[in-house]
Amino acid sequence: MNQNRPDIAPPPLKNDCFALPAGVYWTPVDEALSLLRQRLRPVTGIETLPLSQGLGRVLAQDATARRSNPPLPNTAVDGYGFAGGFPEGAHVLPLADGRAAAGIPYEGVVPAGQALRVLTGAALPDGVDTVILEEDVTLSGGHIAFRGPLKRGANTRKAGEDVVAGDTVLPAGRRLTPADLALLSAVGLAELQVRSPLRVAVLSTGDELVEPGQEAGPGQIYDANRPMLLAMAERFGFQAVDMGRVADDRGALKARLDEAADRADVILTSGGASAGDEDHVSALLREAGAMQEWRIALKPGRPLALGVWNGTPVFGLPGNPVAAMVCTLVFARPAMGLLAGEGWSDPQGFDLPAAFEKRKKPGRREFLRGRVRDGRVEVFRSEGSGRISGLSWAEGLVEIGDDARHIRPGDPVRFIPYASFGL
Ligand code: AMP
Ligand code: MG
Repeated sequence: MNQNRPDIAPPPLKNDCFALPAGVYWTPVDEALSLLRQRLRPVTGIETLPLSQGLGRVLAQDATARRSNPPLPNTAVDGYGFAGGFPEGAHVLPLADGRAAAGIPYEGVVPAGQALRVLTGAALPDGVDTVILEEDVTLSGGHIAFRGPLKRGANTRKAGEDVVAGDTVLPAGRRLTPADLALLSAVGLAELQVRSPLRVAVLSTGDELVEPGQEAGPGQIYDANRPMLLAMAERFGFQAVDMGRVADDRGALKARLDEAADRADVILTSGGASAGDEDHVSALLREAGAMQEWRIALKPGRPLALGVWNGTPVFGLPGNPVAAMVCTLVFARPAMGLLAGEGWSDPQGFDLPAAFEKRKKPGRREFLRGRVRDGRVEVFRSEGSGRISGLSWAEGLVEIGDDARHIRPGDPVRFIPYASFGL
């Protein structure tokens, strides 16, 4: 034997080397989510904005209709209006002078037994509660002729049939869509009380990381998580704050966390969140007495380090880009939504037939990178959590429940498009 080589043997293989750690409780995904949901509150301020700047903002208060929609009964079609319905058979009515158009009401009263020309959107004049479509009428000699039956109220819209003044049209916490702006405008709201955007600081950690554009030495890799996480924060409707990259150096990391806590409402770090020698994010949070190691029964995903730094919540995400993205979508996104003043949101998934086969063990929820082609869900060829190309190949995640499953082609699987997460 070589003199310098110590006489040591590798550890024996353990029987349970593929099992989840015995005696250690792995929190189910749903339990972790409900903890976040119970504990987090809005942290953002409130501002007043004109409606035109409201897209993507979060309502700070319920929005109440100032006006009904429609405000008055009106005609839904171009045609002729009169009072009452008509039985089966042919009917002839004399035409009153004038007309009613959208925005140009008819000032008089339409006498019983007469008809008035009306255009779509016109308020129904006094003496009109029913309208016949112009295509169903012959017009001649100052009269209209049409065939019944026609129900009273036909082709009209009632005042407030859509929204009644005083109704809550959108709840506090709603992130405003283009359709929401239409609704708010229609019911007379010009100014909105909204939340200031949540500021999300993003920080990468690791001695191995270099910036795209820099020379990468052997053993170095380009920082993939930071551009991804900054872009995700933007897509979620938050304000991304780029806090750069920090080496695995506790002092430097501490200073950068101080700065991030000053500049943002929440901090996302990636890397260094486990319990290893160079896992300084978890070590610092632990030192500060504000560290929760979240061992979640989730694949992909190593422990998440959740903590609070100078009063600012920190999500210590795993370094592997796939795990970082999945953990952000599954946990950080709804959590940040609450901090931003949004309601809690579960992503909308769809059950679709699988285009793949997979056997899954019980105990952990799994998210695979997937996409839909020809109505079937495909998954990326590798589940390796460093495979960034698969994140980009995918158009969403396939969620497989906590229990054991043997999925065969054609079996339903839950597909959650990236768009359902807000990406
Ligand atoms: P860690 O969680 O720090 O142990 O990192 C786990 C793995 O993710 C390692 O292979 C890291 O090199 C890699 N990793 C960490 N941060 C990044 C990043 N920002 N971009 C790409 N890979 C990363
Ligand atoms: Mg690291």
